Order: sequence, then C-alpha cells, then structure tokens
Amino acid sequence: MIQTVKGTRDLLPDVMPLWLRVETVAREAFRRYGFKEIRTPILEQTELFARGVGEATDIVHKEMYAFTDRNGDQLCLRPENTASVVRAYNQHKLYNDKTAGENTKLYYIGPMFRRERQQAGRYRQFYQIGAEVMGASDDPAIEAEVIEMLDWMLKELGINDTTLLINSVGDAALRGAYLETLRALLAPQLDKMCSDCHHRYETNALRVFDCKIESCQTVIATLPTITDSLDEASRTHFEQFKAHLDARGIAYRVNPRMVRGLDYYTRTAFEIVGASGLGAQNTVVGGGRYDGLSELIGGVPTKGFGFAFGLDRMVMALPDAEAERLRASDAPDVFIVFLGDAARQHSFRLAQQLRRAGLSVVLDFDERKMKKAMAQANKVQARYALIVGDNEIAQGTYGLKNLATSEQEMLGVEAITQRISESAKP
Ligand code: AMP
Repeated sequence: MIQTVKGTRDLLPDVMPLWLRVETVAREAFRRYGFKEIRTPILEQTELFARGVGEATDIVHKEMYAFTDRNGDQLCLRPENTASVVRAYNQHKLYNDKTAGENTKLYYIGPMFRRERQQAGRYRQFYQIGAEVMGASDDPAIEAEVIEMLDWMLKELGINDTTLLINSVGDAALRGAYLETLRALLAPQLDKMCSDCHHRYETNALRVFDCKIESCQTVIATLPTITDSLDEASRTHFEQFKAHLDARGIAYRVNPRMVRGLDYYTRTAFEIVGASGLGAQNTVVGGGRYDGLSELIGGVPTKGFGFAFGLDRMVMALPDAEAERLRASDAPDVFIVFLGDAARQHSFRLAQQLRRAGLSVVLDFDERKMKKAMAQANKVQARYALIVGDNEIAQGTYGLKNLATSEQEMLGVEAITQRISESAKP
C-alpha cells in the first residue's frame, strides 16, 4: 500500500472538529479585531524567502522544499507566510486601500512546508494561522493589541497554561554591530562548536542561539545578549511595549536570549510557550516586528508586526475535556429507523424535511429489524432515533427516542425539529 509522505499526515474526521474549533475561534478573534483574510499561493519564488526570511536561516538553508521548474524557474513550497503576505501587500498596492484604515490588517490560514528533522510535534507539512499588521506606524500599542487578541483566543479555547515570552532584538544597525561583537567572541571558540554553528558563524552568527547542542550551549551561555546593547530608541520602544501589556493586564516574561528563527525580526519578538499536552516542541505561537522586510523584497518602506501559530500544536494543546466535547458535537442529531418498504420510501421525504429544517440526519438504505436498527443508531452515536412504521405514517407522528435517556415520545415533524433544536448539543 502506498503511504503518506514522511512528515505529512492525513487529518482524519475524528480530529476535524478540533481543527475547525481552533479556526472558528481564530476567525472570530480576527473579526473582532478588524483583520481581513488573505490567501496567497503555496508555490512562491525561492528568492522571496531567500531575501525575506534570510539565506542563513535554517528554514531557507536546510529546510525549504525548493526546486527548479521545467522552464528553469526557481520555485519553492512556502515555508512560512509573512514574506508572502508582504509580497502581496506590495504587489497589489494594498497600502492604497483607504478602507483598511491606518494599518492594513490581514490574516491567513494554511499549510506550510519545511523539511525538518523527524520528531514529535514537527511536521514537514504543518498548518499555521497568522496575522500581519502593516503600514506606516510602528507604535508598540499595535503589538500589545495583537497579543491581547492572541490572549483572548487562548482563553476562548480553554488553554490557560501558556507563558508569553518577549524580547527586543534591536534595529538593523544594532544587529550589524552586535553581529560583529558575536563573531569576535565566537572565533576563538569555534573548535568547540558543531558544524551547523560553523555555518551560522559564517553567514549569520545570531543564529547560534538557535543551536540545541549541549557543547554549543556552553559557549552560547557566555555570550552577551543583544538586549544588553539595545540602542536608545529600541529600548524606549520595548519599555513602552511592556507598559502597554501591563495596562491590558497581560502577563509576560522577558527572555533576552530569544532571537527567533527568522532574520526579518526587528525590535519586538515574542513567543507563547508551554501548554501542557505538548512535548518538547512546546512553542505554540511565534511572532514579532519586521520593519524593513518589505524593502528587503523590493517593496515600499513598511513597518510590520505579526505572528503565526501552529494549528497542529494549538489542537494538541486543547484541554482533554474540551477535545472530548468537540468530538461528541460532531455526532448526528437523528438516525431514522424505518420498518417496511412504505416506511423506507416515507423516510426519504422525512429526512429531506428534517435536513431542510437544519438537523443532521442519518439513515441507512438497507432495511434492518428494529433491534439491529436501534443498535446501528447507537453505533453512529446519534442523539435521537426516529422510528417510522406504517402506523406512524398514517398518524403523521413518529417515535422520537432520546438515546442518552431512553425517553420516547410521539411527535409530528415540526415538534421533532423543535425538540431537537432546543436540546443543546453536548
Ligand atoms: P515560526 O514560523 O518558525 O516562527 O513558527 C511559528 C509556529 O508555527 C511555531 O510556534 C509552531 O507552533 C508552528 N510550527 C513551526 N514549524 C512547525 C512544524 N514543523 N510542525 C508543526 N508546527 C510548526
């Protein structure tokens, strides 16, 4: 049998209610906070990420599914979506859309592709939900508002055990100076570091902070953090950002060693980590400010702030009771049990009526004896069984049996619809 590609997986119907719940809550948050949806292609030019995300990042250097198309074009499957959204913002001159208000606020939902090492919680095709605020303003209030929206989403999903980590990685000039310092400090210690860190040293020394190898970590622990040498403007920005979070009652922890895996971040970077139910890969949300990314890919000068969260991980972080409730909510309202050929024909029309009234109705086409049919109603986990026989047809009322309580009553179509709609879903 041919199987799924390594690192990808089928999302089967039993988990879909959980995925839909996360998507629905996210869409509701975006609606409340004034974000509009955008869908960009999965296929992009490799150069977009090489220039945007950075040639030296693990994502571009090691993980991107990039290939030469038959006509010689360098293409890839998108490894993330911020660069694509910034590309679309420029390509369609969305900055001219006055209905967007002061800033353009966009969100996306879709698959991303990275050829990562196989491990639990990391997939080669995974799904992100993300949002971007782009425009002329770099007010830290924007950052706090976006994080407040994430905070609401997490609470709405019942995920209460996460921690918000924040840091400032300074502006481009500071990063340049800091990189020089890092390189000078790393050079005499390179022999103690792994081959990936050698590559990082050559291309972007900031990336050594991403290394998980213990011998490298020993060296990394001795390095000064970028936060130690923040320029005045970045420091003020960071202080204001923290004050905005405080004012909104949002708890956070400053982590000066968090640099994030993408080059485009300037100043504010953040992660939301730690929901129980996640293993070692416990970063649920990653984001930050990316002033200048637009210019890097040839666009207009733009300030930007955004985040992406892993839908796969958000689903895993859902509390067990909530996951259980969501799975149960996917069960059909009614299973029709018919007895005899006339009842079978009648049931088709009855099912049509009930479905048009909004109920989820299941009926099998094979006739079964009463007992077997009731067992089938239980197997498909229907909330009610509706019994249709010749007498019921003559009277125009049917036996509605609540399968949880075994209570049964004779009701007409309208009363059935009303009864089932009233009784709240689990
Ligand atoms: P990043 O785009 O690397 O900042 O990642 C943002 C979020 O996407 C992470 O916090 C994860 O929740 C999720 N994510 C990133 N890579 C993967 C992956 N390979 N598998 C599953 N989720 C991922």
